Amino acid sequence: MKTVNFGIDLGTTNSLIAKYENGLLEVFKNPIGQKQTLASAVAFRGSRILVGDKARDLLEKDPLNVFTCFKRKMGTTDRYFAKSINKDVSPIELSAYVLKELKNFIHTGEELHEAVITIPSSFDTIQSNATKTAGQQAGFKEVYLLQEPIAASLAFANKNNLELSDTKKWLIYDFGGGTFDVALLEINQREMNVLDNEGDNFLGGMDIDNLIIEKLLVPKLEPILNETKLLDKFKEPNNPLQKLYFELLFRAEEAKKELSRFETTEIDIDYPDKDIYTSVEVSRADFNNLLAPLVEHTINFSKKILNNNNLANTDVEKIIMVGGSTLIPYVREQVQNNLKIAIDTSVDPTAAVGIGAAYYAGTKISTLKQEKISQPTSTTTAATSEKQPLVNLIFEKNTKDAEELIAFTLHKPTQGFYRITRKDGGYDTGLVTLENNVNVFVDLLEGQVNTFNLKIYNTQQEVLFSTDDIHINQGKYNIQGQLLPNDICLEIDDIQYSVTRLEAIFNKNTVLPLKKTIYKSASKTILKDSDEKLQINIVEGDGNGLPSSGLSIGYIEITGKQLEQDLIKGTDIELNISVSESRDIDVDIFLTSCDQEFSNSFKPTERYISSSKMENEIRVVTQKIEQEKAKPEYAENYELLQKFKTIEHALIELQIQLTLLADTDVTDAKFKIDNEKRSLIQQFDLLTRHKELDNDIEEYKTSVLAVKQSLSENNSEYYTAQFNKVIANEKSFINSGNKYLIRSKIEELRVIRNAIFTADESNFIGPFFHYKTLDNYPDQQKANMLIAEGDKALENKQYKVLKQVVYQLASMLPDDTPKTSFNNQDKTGLS
Ligand code: ADP
Ligand code: MG
Repeated sequence: MKTVNFGIDLGTTNSLIAKYENGLLEVFKNPIGQKQTLASAVAFRGSRILVGDKARDLLEKDPLNVFTCFKRKMGTTDRYFAKSINKDVSPIELSAYVLKELKNFIHTGEELHEAVITIPSSFDTIQSNATKTAGQQAGFKEVYLLQEPIAASLAFANKNNLELSDTKKWLIYDFGGGTFDVALLEINQREMNVLDNEGDNFLGGMDIDNLIIEKLLVPKLEPILNETKLLDKFKEPNNPLQKLYFELLFRAEEAKKELSRFETTEIDIDYPDKDIYTSVEVSRADFNNLLAPLVEHTINFSKKILNNNNLANTDVEKIIMVGGSTLIPYVREQVQNNLKIAIDTSVDPTAAVGIGAAYYAGTKISTLKQEKISQPTSTTTAATSEKQPLVNLIFEKNTKDAEELIAFTLHKPTQGFYRITRKDGGYDTGLVTLENNVNVFVDLLEGQVNTFNLKIYNTQQEVLFSTDDIHINQGKYNIQGQLLPNDICLEIDDIQYSVTRLEAIFNKNTVLPLKKTIYKSASKTILKDSDEKLQINIVEGDGNGLPSSGLSIGYIEITGKQLEQDLIKGTDIELNISVSESRDIDVDIFLTSCDQEFSNSFKPTERYISSSKMENEIRVVTQKIEQEKAKPEYAENYELLQKFKTIEHALIELQIQLTLLADTDVTDAKFKIDNEKRSLIQQFDLLTRHKELDNDIEEYKTSVLAVKQSLSENNSEYYTAQFNKVIANEKSFINSGNKYLIRSKIEELRVIRNAIFTADESNFIGPFFHYKTLDNYPDQQKANMLIAEGDKALENKQYKVLKQVVYQLASMLPDDTPKTSFNNQDKTGLS
């Protein structure tokens, strides 16, 4: 069985390609210049397209035709306008050029049809799919994604040939050119798993370069050039000063690297256009001061990941440092001192991700081959085996041993033989008489995936069962599976609160692939041929958050026009949802009342970010914060008040940034603002959610007391049992933080209390007197008649009649329940 073998680190600043096969690792070098890494840069020069370092070198000379850092815009609708070809190019296309160039590094003449490509663990579904599409545009028939921290740790574990006696936890701290990622990993002798990850897609070495320009170079240059707002002018498209900006960017990066080796450096600025030749001296101390807030930010992320997983620093054995920016001594020092965990700098920080991708690829079984090449015997019998499982197979997928156990049991007693062979022919059991339990130690080839075939024969030596699906990876570390970076949710109607809300289908950090069937009911009737619609919106984000704080990754609209019969309110809607390892999303919807099925597959590759929509969202949330602030202010809870204020100020700050942003802005600003906006709304959400939750818990406790009171007066065994059923597992549902669960418990308690009350008809005496005093019956005459009847029933102690009178009086009153503002068109149709 073929393995993928090729791994690619498609980095923001640098990319790399490596291969791992049969125990051998090779990092390919650029045939020009023999460097391992390729700058992720593309330049358009008329009919010529340059990729890599030669493209980046043109940045200063021809900034309008050279593009870098496009990874930051993967999954967005942003385009880069290339002047020399008078065309817009997408981040996906630019990435595809880099991938194609990397293919040229392969000197072995092999053709590449598939590869593993790494992505930051913070990449959402849209960004992941965009990466896959880039791979396909570069000519790969199949692309497998791998999260960068996993790749880095595979490189680390395999390089150091680790022998671990017990389970360890590590942090992977990846500070690259454009992104920061930190992941928590668990590793034992056989495999590793990512437990959690945090990160910022807009924090990296290039932000450090920009800080040098902003804080050190611009203040020096403004008086010399007799300019103000130089920084703004640098970013204006078509401003002649842009050329100077790219020169400074180059110098700043050089200086930064120098400062990783020396205590001081000189930044020479040559700007012949204005006849300016000057220099700025920078010491390491100055530089460290500049850096401090960025580094602190990365440390906070690292602390957050420890907190979220209830870990102390002593629970983590080491921090593995990867990414070019970890070459900065101050970064290493601060991380180690602040987190009080030993750092490990033993892997090459710029190659680790690519090398790890290759290790993964070397054990990843190609899915391409199965589709392309048909092997009649093995595929047909394997298919049969799936339908009628004859054997129960057990084996270790990863091992460091030279031989491994393959064990199987037969589901029904069978007479005959079995045979196990290794795919390369180097191992063969020959025909062996079957027993009900078989244990065989098989020999393994070192440092690679060993694929075995198991065949079961009857006594006439006809094949009853055959499988090629026994893959044992020898020698190298591997991973069990990749994790979902965020909750995947369904937007549904919350009828009680007249809003839509999210319900998590799959939770963050569960292992892909995933599949689930869920049942919902229709919250509105949709008539056949009408314009009403059912909306199925799959959202990636925090399952407890506001729908607007998440990201829509799959959307299906079913209108009345598509229905063959009416969709009746209250009927079942069955949804089958699955997410593949490469994050393709499939949704099947079955409408019971229409007996109709709809399916869709999603591979969203772009998101559109509208400034005006963002402004609107910020406005709505700041208004909400204004309202929320009144309560802590009144209660003199200054700590909470301050939290609200901080979020509000930060949102207003974003709003100002948005208004200053030109429509034509081509920088990352909009996406950065969107990122921050979502994170602030989530923070606000968390603060208020707890408050609501506290109220709900309070109400739940009051309801429990009320039912206990009713039970003590009534003594019903039946209702006591019902009550005990509701409050069983009380601790766990209170601690779940799920307000919907708690509310459903409150509702169940209300129903019990109501049932206890109505079971004793004499309880209706009180309500009867209440209704007797009312004078707002629309039909007072009928009410008077009923009241007279009630008086008589009371006199004769006919409480059953009294109960009926109370019900009738109640039904005569005008409906004063507030009309809900939850219009049908605002509903998704699912509840
Ligand atoms: P990415 O994964 O984002 O492509 P890398 O991990 O290759 O990025 O890191 C690139 C970043 O590392 C760049 O911002 C570069 O300036 C920075 N860098 C590389 N070498 C050094 C060094 N010696 N000192 C400081 N920064 C460095
Ligand atoms: Mg990287």
